[in-house]
Amino acid sequence: MEMQEPNSKFIKLRCPKCKNEQITFGKAATKVNCLVCGKPLAEPTGGKTRFKARILEVLD
Ligand SMILES: [Zn+2]
Repeated sequence: MEMQEPNSKFIKLRCPKCKNEQITFGKAATKVNCLVCGKPLAEPTGGKTRFKARILEVLD
């Protein structure tokens, strides 16, 4: 099974709860929580990443 990850970019997210901004990998392999308040910002769902936070910027 080939695992090409063309969308592996860094993404800047803003936590909807505390407005903390943090950068995470575009394809998160594990759940990403806000570093400040602990709110889940992204979680892997069968190969894709579901974002629960606002994406501010996609960084190459
Ligand atoms: Zn937060």
